[in-house]
Amino acid sequence: MSTPPLVACPQCGKKTAWTPANPFRPFCSERCKLIDLGQWAKEEYRIPEQQQPLAGNEAEEND
Ligand SMILES: [Zn+2]
Repeated sequence: MSTPPLVACPQCGKKTAWTPANPFRPFCSERCKLIDLGQWAKEEYRIPEQQQPLAGNEAEEND
């Protein structure tokens, strides 16, 4: 065992050592891991954006 294999972080592409010391592998950091998880989570649980009709628009048309 010498140097640990380097893997490219799926999120930012940064080369990071694949070691037990890195709990976030294959990501380089917790931040990248969370970003990646957040991305698929957003696809999984699509939260409808709050589209509240602008009260002003119709009023202007009626004017
Ligand atoms: Zn990264």
